[in-house]
Amino acid sequence: MRLKEFYIFLKRNRITLEHKSLAILSAPYIMMELMSKGFYSIYILIVVAVLLVLDVLIKNRYHFLLIALYLYFLYVYFIYVDTLDVVHSLPFSKFSVVALLMLTLASYFFYRKKKAVKVFNIFMLIFAATFIFNAVNAKKFDQDSILAKINSKSTAPLFSNVAENDKPILLLVMDELASSGEIYKHTKDSIEFDFDKKIEAMGFNVYDGFKSASIQTKYSLPSIFNFNLHNSEYTRQKEEENKTIKYSEEYNYLFENSLLVDSLMTKGVTSHSFGLIKFNQSPTNRLNNYIWNDRFDDLALFSSGEFLNRFFAKSLFGYISVRFNRASFREIFSHIFQKEGGLAYLKNPLGTVDAFRKEVMTNLRDFSPKPDNFYYFHLYFPHSPYTYFGEFNYSEDAKEIDVYVEYRRFVLGKILSVIDNPKFSDCRIIIVGDHGFREDSSIDPKITSLYTKGFNNIEFESNFVVQDIGYLIQQSFK
Ligand SMILES: [Zn+2]
Repeated sequence: MRLKEFYIFLKRNRITLEHKSLAILSAPYIMMELMSKGFYSIYILIVVAVLLVLDVLIKNRYHFLLIALYLYFLYVYFIYVDTLDVVHSLPFSKFSVVALLMLTLASYFFYRKKKAVKVFNIFMLIFAATFIFNAVNAKKFDQDSILAKINSKSTAPLFSNVAENDKPILLLVMDELASSGEIYKHTKDSIEFDFDKKIEAMGFNVYDGFKSASIQTKYSLPSIFNFNLHNSEYTRQKEEENKTIKYSEEYNYLFENSLLVDSLMTKGVTSHSFGLIKFNQSPTNRLNNYIWNDRFDDLALFSSGEFLNRFFAKSLFGYISVRFNRASFREIFSHIFQKEGGLAYLKNPLGTVDAFRKEVMTNLRDFSPKPDNFYYFHLYFPHSPYTYFGEFNYSEDAKEIDVYVEYRRFVLGKILSVIDNPKFSDCRIIIVGDHGFREDSSIDPKITSLYTKGFNNIEFESNFVVQDIGYLIQQSFK
């Protein structure tokens, strides 16, 4: 083909808005990639070029079903995560079926007439442009201005006789831990105090009926890590207003860049998160899966090829990756063809919450505590879902509080067996709930338990609450 003929070919095959075009359908996805935390890659240009060549070659002959599947692959997971708990609370499987049906209908409707195709293409381009707009207007958080807005009043000192030394401190936050006394009121069964008795025998101090100023994880945790943000009208108002959102970006920012971790650094103490979120000031990330960041963390599906793992993180592959606990395609396939694997492996997804629980527990069992280090573990139980890889089962007809009581006993047993390890003999340990049980009016959601080891002579004031734990940690290092 001579150059002139090539130009004629291009001219004849020019793509306009009236054509079916994979490049245009991909525009929002690609724009989202380009705008997300500065992800620019030469490979993105290659992807765009390939799509344009396909569009020129196949010109207008895409079947509407193919278009529906393509849109589904690119956008379903991103839209699912973005709308979950705000617009709906469907499991992915149900959401996915509805989305595929709607996309098929839309694709059938829009891909019959040139004019309709044009409308759809313009819609996709505007959608793509919104990502530029969002990136330009992205909120820039900074610690000082958020803290000034919250304006929480310090009430220290809240305890006396604190011993300063370099022994490691472990903070184990048990999500939604009701105190034994509160549960006993409901069951009248002295078995509820078993854990307290056993842990006391292991050298812990037990504070049953310990108070929390918060009943929401998303405010309680940032507060613990920022020397109590609950002596503030602003925080109290937020707790009241935002009962349904999953987490607050402002408070999460403070959790990720916390005053406690900053302050420990000035004492030469290194902090490690095995919790909901990673610490920005921490030297290493200890978990693969922090469930409060990285909603679209890079995949590990393609064992090599950084670009693919990053580029497809928001696509349907992102869901597959999370469902299989971030295994690679190779690992997934080898599981399926193993004798114990097969269908059972495919049918029993490692739900993200259970996978997170297991990763945290495995780390708690395997890590080695060192002097002048602080370790935060988030034990995502006895909070619902009341599951643990099929080890805990309950009847669907049972009342939630009764399931909770059983599950609470089950997980406390698990904690006891992990804590009972000689490697912790020289550690200081704090086990505490971020709030109590919230799903039954007979239980006070502001009452939880505190268990401490290695803080022996300390005396707490009566107004010392869960959110003040940061003071205790900070003042206990030299
Ligand atoms: Zn919680």
